[in-house]
Amino acid sequence: MTQEKQQGGRVLHVFNNIISQGTKDPDLPPEVPSRRWMYWQMTRAVAKKVVRAPFSLHTWAALRRQLLANILPDNLVYRYKAYQHGECNRCGLCCKIQFQCPFFVDEGPYNTRCSIYTTPHAPSACLKFPLDPMDLKLLQREIGNACTFYYEGAPQKLSILDFAKLYAQGVRQQLAKRKLKEAADSGD
Ligand code: SF4
Ligand code: SF4
Repeated sequence: MTQEKQQGGRVLHVFNNIISQGTKDPDLPPEVPSRRWMYWQMTRAVAKKVVRAPFSLHTWAALRRQLLANILPDNLVYRYKAYQHGECNRCGLCCKIQFQCPFFVDEGPYNTRCSIYTTPHAPSACLKFPLDPMDLKLLQREIGNACTFYYEGAPQKLSILDFAKLYAQGVRQQLAKRKLKEAADSGD
């Protein structure tokens, strides 16, 4: 494991000792001592990636995933899911490209996990990976094809007009879903 991981582990341990369990934010897993710490780690991670942008194709691949995962409606972002195969073997390699993610937890070979994956703070780009064959290919390039996801087949290619129609349709569907949820939450 890298020096960075060892330091990260020590920081977590120290914080865990200082902050009593009673003051813990219920949204946060035990590995994350506070929201402030979490947002600081996220900011540092983004900054580290951006600094590497001039030299690293991986940064552009990560930026592409981040953008698409956040701006595309579900009907477009999940377009390739029906053609995606394989299961994550928890090798953890995708969380250690360039540097080890501060939320990465290593509990042995093929026994790694993300401490924030099941919380509302998990990055969309991580939850939705892989988005499409290009996304997977760019990641496989960094980790020697070790990721166990793969694609068979592909959806029909979209013209710009088809894309625009699907985009508008997807946005309408998501707005309708949001309204329904808001109505359900307010008890109407
Ligand atoms: S590289 Fe692929 S198989 Fe390994 S942890 Fe990441 S998603 Fe899972
Ligand atoms: S899945 Fe979790 S540990 Fe891996 S890169 Fe994303 S936030 Fe970090």
